[in-house]
Amino acid sequence: MSTRAPRTRAKRSAGEGQAVFKGLGVAPGIAIGPAHVHGAELPALADCGVAPDQVEGERQRFRTAVEASKKQLTKLKQKTAGLPPAAAEELGYLLDAHVQMLSQSRLVRGVEKRIGENLVAAETAVRAEAEAIAEAFEAMDDSYLAQRVQDVREVGARLVRNLTQTPWGAFKNLPEGAVIVAEEITPADTAVMDPDVVGGFATVTGGAEGHTAIMARALGLPAVLGVADLVGAIRTGDTVIVDGNEGRVVARPTAATLERYERRRLEYEKEERQLARLAKLPSVSRDGVDFQLGANLELPREVGQALAAGASSIGLLRSEFMFMNRADIPDEEEQYTQLAEIVKGMAGRVVTVRTLDVGGEKLASALGDLSPGPNPALGLRAIRLSLARPELLDAQLAAILRAGAHGPLRILVPMVATVDEMKEVRDAVGRVARRLVRKGIAIADPLPPLGAMIEIPAAALAADALARVCDFLALGTNDLTMYALAIDRGDEQVAHLYNPLHPAVLRLIQFTAEAALRNRIPVSICGEIAGDPRYTALLAGLGIRELSMAPIKIPRVKNRVRGLDVQNATARARTVMEQWDTKAIAALVDEYNDSLVRAKE
Ligand code: PEP
Ligand code: MG
Repeated sequence: MSTRAPRTRAKRSAGEGQAVFKGLGVAPGIAIGPAHVHGAELPALADCGVAPDQVEGERQRFRTAVEASKKQLTKLKQKTAGLPPAAAEELGYLLDAHVQMLSQSRLVRGVEKRIGENLVAAETAVRAEAEAIAEAFEAMDDSYLAQRVQDVREVGARLVRNLTQTPWGAFKNLPEGAVIVAEEITPADTAVMDPDVVGGFATVTGGAEGHTAIMARALGLPAVLGVADLVGAIRTGDTVIVDGNEGRVVARPTAATLERYERRRLEYEKEERQLARLAKLPSVSRDGVDFQLGANLELPREVGQALAAGASSIGLLRSEFMFMNRADIPDEEEQYTQLAEIVKGMAGRVVTVRTLDVGGEKLASALGDLSPGPNPALGLRAIRLSLARPELLDAQLAAILRAGAHGPLRILVPMVATVDEMKEVRDAVGRVARRLVRKGIAIADPLPPLGAMIEIPAAALAADALARVCDFLALGTNDLTMYALAIDRGDEQVAHLYNPLHPAVLRLIQFTAEAALRNRIPVSICGEIAGDPRYTALLAGLGIRELSMAPIKIPRVKNRVRGLDVQNATARARTVMEQWDTKAIAALVDEYNDSLVRAKE
């Protein structure tokens, strides 16, 4: 490398006995298994050549990847600010060393040279150069350089990831029960995790309501996100405990710690088994009010889990899964086949299919030309994208209408802001339906109900107008909270400020529920608060009777519903809505919940 780090970095605690890390417990359960440190290795890639006139373009791609990598490292360094000084200093040296390797270094010069001389793609050149440097360091008898070998490979791996912009890998060939440890895991990465192999995961980045967290809950994988000091502290093969209940990661546990966590894991599993017995019991409150507890579905494999948990419906099918981890857009036929299978699998229970909601953190690789824009959360996302790309919307609507011939379904439109958007979608549904009927293709008859997601504050405040052009409303409280409070739901740095109990959020929910009620259309909640028993009584008191959540969340929410007196909860909700202080609201909510638990004992 061109310059040495200012001093030999103190060795991170990897391999040095038990280490405990704190983060956000986003998916419940306890995983204990061998660590797989993800993304730290140079991926195996087929060598790829380029023509002489592509060399400059290839070098430009490489420079863009270098800049992206530097930005990521700077962001990681910022995250160390909240750590104890010694840990922050130690990590700082590591990250500085990586930045140096990306600044006028042998690695950078070598890659640019290889692209031109060997006529190879940037990722091929990176892999070859990083490997050559690592091998040269290994051959030298120098303890400082020996420490850098892993760093060179990690920097190379980061560059390749940024060049290929593909998910970090398919998590193949892992030992059973492997615990994945990574800087970042995207929603697309989680989509390729097999819960029969992967035990759980822990990452440096990510918030509790982001889609990676949602996917972890969907897969039933214990997960802890936002662990700032995880980088470099764990090696592949170390035993790791991920405690998703308490938000804790333990590396290389002592025998006593391991025994304690094994015990906790058994207790948790026993409790889950007891709750599972509720699946067959009705979701009715003590005073006889019926609740619909539906399942949110991210992946087709969850149909079985939804049924096992006693879901009354699919209250939200996030159709994005069909567009992730692939380079092409699934055509109508493919979408139809997948949706029809889910509809048939739910055996007569309503399936609420949401049209494509990509953009923001959910960039689908199939829509490769999609630009995140200056502010992805406010950009060409969800229904805005579908209306801008009618061929995309039409194919999806056709697939949904055809799947509707196999069982009841509803169509849900994400990120609606205006009445006009709903009218445009309704026109498109009519147009696509007529085309299919003309061709003699079987579709849902009558046409499925069409609903809007209420997840933009403007939509909540205009819920009475939207209710007139919708057959149902679904509150997306994850985004609604994010937009109302201007807090990114996936950013662990502001996760402590993300609070659905803020009176602004509660008023938006209340206004929407009342608008639906006045217009006699159903309203549900399918954001993450629907699956948290902490909010059940309050939401019931605000008039909500339909909740949709990750299947694993249904038993605990049902348990709460069955212990509830809705009339009483309504009176309590009135008191809550008179408060303006978030802490006072939280205290009222928790105190009421405690009284419900006590009454059951
Ligand atoms: C929401 O925003 O609350 C929601 C359910 O949609 P998603 O989490 O997919 O954005
Ligand atoms: Mg949303």
